Amino acid sequence: MAKKNILIVPGDGIGQEVTAVGKKVLDAIAAKFNHEFIYDEALIGHVAIEATGNPLPDETLLKMKNSDAVLFGAVGHPKYDNDPSAKVRPEQGLLKMRKELGLYANLRPIKLFDELLSASSIKPEILKGADILFFRELTGDIYFGEKGRKNNGDTAFDVAEYSRYEVERIGRKAFEAARTRKKKLCSVDKANVLETSRLWREVIQKLALEYSDIEVEYQFVDATAMLLIKNPCRFDVVVTANLFGDILTDEASQIAGSMGMLASASIGDGTGVYEPIHGSAHDITGKGVANPLSSILSAALLLDISFGLKKESEAIISAVDAVLKQGFRTRDIADTNTAKENILGTDAMGEAVLKFL
Ligand code: NAD
Repeated sequence: MAKKNILIVPGDGIGQEVTAVGKKVLDAIAAKFNHEFIYDEALIGHVAIEATGNPLPDETLLKMKNSDAVLFGAVGHPKYDNDPSAKVRPEQGLLKMRKELGLYANLRPIKLFDELLSASSIKPEILKGADILFFRELTGDIYFGEKGRKNNGDTAFDVAEYSRYEVERIGRKAFEAARTRKKKLCSVDKANVLETSRLWREVIQKLALEYSDIEVEYQFVDATAMLLIKNPCRFDVVVTANLFGDILTDEASQIAGSMGMLASASIGDGTGVYEPIHGSAHDITGKGVANPLSSILSAALLLDISFGLKKESEAIISAVDAVLKQGFRTRDIADTNTAKENILGTDAMGEAVLKFL
């Protein structure tokens, strides 16, 4: 029996809706496998700005540091998306959380449930068997470098920076993961143009000498964007920098059928944070149609990675698989073959998974 403290941080928009379902699934696991999960809740993003003026209140950060794992939703609000001059923004909370918790590695498993082969915009014969594990660096690069304006505001700059240490620690995690999978690693950069990428490649090449059992390839980010769609099955583990990883993993979400199917784990020195890869999706907020499988699968990752509860994690994935096999879909993963009565809303999809659990 495990006794663990889990902090629930739903954030904004559909983050609230899907995280509530993810928590119910954690509850069901605790009951089924006789664990004790103790929950607390905290604010981040737009809801935190509204309540405290700060996108990541000190109280939230403290609770995060003191918990065993965080189940996170999303941050963002259209008010800020359309106002580039806003000084306080929800995303600042997210970036500060990653920095403060030392969450330097973002793991994004991209695996297609067989039942969803036809939900993707990519041909089934190209997709079948695709199973990629992305390692996106999360606390460096252009997102965290110096930024500003000059020439009376007419010129803007964002500085990309990486240290050898930052590349090595995520590189090592990716090599170790490749060892437990198909022993293939693809390192993605833009070493033909960028100095940070040349350092990135140098460090990965050096690490490769230590991991001689792993087959390593190097790809440029532009070629990778093409290859992901052309032949996703050629990839096993992919490691890349923050900006490239941000873009490539959204692209790769189409391999899994929808953003609503994908979970991620952000890990590093302390508490791990588990979250859907999607944002707050204000176009569908409050409509009860958001796909909660992103948060349910995030809960599965949490149990596996932070608590080492593999059986429990697999039970969630099997329940999701069973629900999809039964033909149930949320709107984002439904297709023309889906019976109308099988298209479920957020809560009903959660209930279906609970039933199979
Ligand atoms: P988004 O990921 O919120 O949505 C993109 C599209 O996918 C939308 O059409 C949305 O309806 C759909 N979608 C996303 N999740 C879904 C789900 N679970 N079920 C069904 N459909 C789903 O990205 P966006 O629209 O570019 O951004 C909206 C806001 O989210 C912005 O403010 C942005 O800054 C923020 N954002 C936050 C995060 C994060 O918190 N990690 C990540 C990306 C974007």
